[in-house]
Formats: sequence, C-alpha cells, structure tokens
Amino acid sequence: MPDPALVMLRCDSCQAEFTPRTGPCPRCGGVHTEPFEIDPGGRVLAATELTAPSSGWSAPHRLALVEVAGGIRLLCVVRGALPAVGDQCTVSRDGETYRIG
Ligand SMILES: [Zn+2]
Repeated sequence: MPDPALVMLRCDSCQAEFTPRTGPCPRCGGVHTEPFEIDPGGRVLAATELTAPSSGWSAPHRLALVEVAGGIRLLCVVRGALPAVGDQCTVSRDGETYRIG
C-alpha cells in the first residue's frame, strides 16, 4: 500500500507552496489558497539529537530537516535512530507534527 500523500497549500496570488496553517500566505499575505498533495518521500538535509529537550518531549529527542517535493522543507520528529544526511525517508503527519521513521 502506498504511503499517504502529504497535503500542502499553494497561494493563488504568488504560487508559493507551504505547509497547512491558519492565516495568510507567508510570502505575499494573500488570503486565497488551494490544497494540493505531494509524495511523502524526502531526503534528509540535517539531523540532530537533543539530550535536554523542551518540557513535554522525552530525551533523547531527535529532529531532522527533510526536503520533499517542490523543495518544501519540513522539520520532522524522528522515530528510532538518527538518520544520516542524504538518507531517503518517508514523512507522515501526526496532527501538527511531521514525523519520519
Ligand atoms: Zn502568496
């Protein structure tokens, strides 16, 4: 079964693509957006492990910056081992949190 697509938003005015959020386009302030789907596959650009994360997160807390289709970059919580830069991964969304692993 294929991994579920990720839903992003595209601004009708400037065509900027960004993660779903409330409020206007972060580039031009336009208020009209359209949802579109992208492949959840991505590539790890950077990863780090926090040994003393903010309250509410267990240690160690692993984060990865992942680039997906269209050059969209997502900060993801990592389940499991810390990935290496360049690793291929699949991003999923859990509420407001993007995850890999
Ligand atoms: Zn815009």
